[in-house]
Amino acid sequence: MNFYAKHRQTLNVGRHFKQTFRMKRQIKKWTLRLTATVVLIGGLLLIIILNPILTYASKTTHNNYTVFHNKTLDPTLLTKLDQATELLKASEFYNPKLHLDICLNDRSKYPKLMRTLRGQAFAWGFYNKVVLQGNTNYQDNNVELNSYKWNLTQLLAHEMTHCLQFDKLGFWKSNPVANIPNWKWEGYAEYISRQDADQKNLSKNIARLIATKKSNWQVTFADSTIVPREYYESWIMMQYCMNIKKMTYKQILADTTSEQNVTQEMMKWYEKNKSERTTSYWQ
Ligand SMILES: [Zn+2]
Repeated sequence: MNFYAKHRQTLNVGRHFKQTFRMKRQIKKWTLRLTATVVLIGGLLLIIILNPILTYASKTTHNNYTVFHNKTLDPTLLTKLDQATELLKASEFYNPKLHLDICLNDRSKYPKLMRTLRGQAFAWGFYNKVVLQGNTNYQDNNVELNSYKWNLTQLLAHEMTHCLQFDKLGFWKSNPVANIPNWKWEGYAEYISRQDADQKNLSKNIARLIATKKSNWQVTFADSTIVPREYYESWIMMQYCMNIKKMTYKQILADTTSEQNVTQEMMKWYEKNKSERTTSYWQ
């Protein structure tokens, strides 16, 4: 290799190095810009989520609740909030000082934002917020979504129970961060909210599930409102652990028995209980 060829090669290596360096700098610049944008959007979303008043026309305070709404508030809702509060008192996590925000679905952007972020649901309960998403019918006491109806008082109590879970366990030990098995997270919210006369008896609740067609994704109650089958199963398991095994919710959270084993144990109890009832009837 002569002097010029060697020199040209050194020049090429130098140029190549410069190009790589420039590209790396560009990538770094764009990564930084992208990160800054994501953080900014995330921050803005968080501010909007934590401050519902930014997306609602009015707010009404009732006892420990601040109700956010766009249209004139139907006072029936306040009665439903009081009824739901009574249900919450059955929870070992009940906190009479807890202040909650209730966000109504009356053309505000707030429920739409929640649907975009977390998906379609009858309602959402997280941190200190209850967000209704379906169409609320105050007179008939239900929330309708895709022609299915959920009892409004019980839905409010269900979502408020999630707020109690957040309040007692803290953000990091609550779902979705803590990854608590779904039957324990949802089953407890169902357990606290389902206290109607036709929902108290575990044997009858199990019988209602058995009588429901396997292909149905929902189970229907006496007031013709529904609950998804998965939630229903979680609910009766929770009822079994709390009412029959006399466990506290904290003990259930700490317990490591698998979902399958709890179900098996509960069904054994159901069968035994059933045969005992039949025997005593004939004696
Ligand atoms: Zn829930």
